[in-house]
This record gives sequence, C-alpha cells and structure tokens, in this order.
Amino acid sequence: MDAREELIDLLSQVKKQLIHSQEIGLDAPTLSTHSLHYLRKGLQLDIEPLKENFYCNSLEELKNFINNCDKCRLSKERKNIVFGEGPPHARLVFVGEAPGMDEDLTGKPFVGQAGKLLTDIIKAMGLTRDEVYICNIVKCHPPRNRDPERDEIEMCLPFLEAQLSLIQPEIICAIGRISAQSLVREDFKITRERGQWQSFRGIPLMPTYHPAYLLRYPQAKKAVWEDMQQIMKKLGLKDPRELRD
Ligand code: URA
Repeated sequence: MDAREELIDLLSQVKKQLIHSQEIGLDAPTLSTHSLHYLRKGLQLDIEPLKENFYCNSLEELKNFINNCDKCRLSKERKNIVFGEGPPHARLVFVGEAPGMDEDLTGKPFVGQAGKLLTDIIKAMGLTRDEVYICNIVKCHPPRNRDPERDEIEMCLPFLEAQLSLIQPEIICAIGRISAQSLVREDFKITRERGQWQSFRGIPLMPTYHPAYLLRYPQAKKAVWEDMQQIMKKLGLKDPRELRD
C-alpha cells in the first residue's frame, strides 16, 4: 500500500466508525464542512477543496457563526444578514445575487417584487417555496442596490460554499449574471450561456435570468421557463400544466 492508499483506507475506517456511532445514537463529534462532505460524498479528488473549512455540522450552526460577520464593508449598513431559507437537504437551491432593501429589512431572501416573481416561477414548476432552498451570493444588502463588488463576493463566497456543502442539493439554479459569474466563471455571459448546464463543485448548475430582469423584459420569461423545464426534467418533476390536461 502506498501512502495515498493507506490514507484512503484510514479515512474509510474512520467513516465506518462514525456511521456506526451515529447509528447507535452517540452524539456526533463536531466535524468540519470538509469532513462532512467526505462522509456524504466520498473523496472527490477531482473537485477543488472548499476555500474555507468551517466547524459547523448544520446550517443553524453556520448561520450562528456568520451572525456578527464584519469581514467586508457591507456589514456597516446592513440591517439584517440574509442567510437564506429552505429545507436543510433541499433537492434544488436557487442562488440570487444579493439581498435588496426588502430582504435587508426582513432578513429573508427574495421577498420583494423580484421575489414574488421567483415564487410564481417555483409554483409553475409544481413546487412551493418551502420545498426549495433560496439564498444569495452575498448575505448583506449592498447600499443603493449597487452590484456587490468583487472583494465583497470573495469574502462571502466561502459561506455559500459551506452552505451548499451542508445542503448537498441535486441542482443549483444560478439566478442572474452575478450569481453565474461567481459560481461558474468570471466572464460568464448570461445572455449567451443561460440554459446550458454547468457545474459547481460537482453539482449540476443551471444559469438563468434574474427575475428583476424579467420585470423589465417580460419577453425573456419564455427562456427562463425553458431553463426551469430542464431542471424539472433532471429532478423527475412533471409539468403541472400537463398534469391538468
Ligand atoms: N435579488 C436577489 O438577487 N436576491 C434577493 O434576495 C432579492 C433580490
């Protein structure tokens, strides 16, 4: 056995031991998001490791950890951190850009005008908001609704990475240019490349237009619906309109 094989063997024994402890009801030790990822998914050598390793076993712990964050200037003017909401193991996660004013006031993602449209899109997919997870690239509202800046995104992205590694969704939907550029590639062109499957740390990712864009350009709704249909197909969901016929 070479050193790498020995390490893999050792890790798989630790994994078995931890699963056994969990099965017989022992308290789980506090694991890092890296270790949790390994326990759920196995060693994925082809996937870049998480940027930061948090010692959080749950979304609740991660939320508490972020609670007083002052890593970037967005913390100065925010009223509430908008962590995100939804089931801890949602199959589908929507990732927007940044909280707007309504979200800043309520601490909840996508509750303003764009949020109402997102809720309608989710309903049209035959789902409810409670069945999906909704969050943003940055967790604090940028003043005057400006785009989040690159360093702000860099500071906040490790939190989203940890969030996604705890949720382990089957699909991520990146909503809008900023989300797709942060999760896929800096030079991602939303108008040219939306609707084409990408991947984020091994999770299939569908980039689509932001609902705020749809409010300005309703003619783009058709394209978003096509993107949602691709997601529905991958999740094995039937189009509720067809079910009615
Ligand atoms: N726009 C976003 O990108 N996120 C929100 O939470 C609200 C509006």
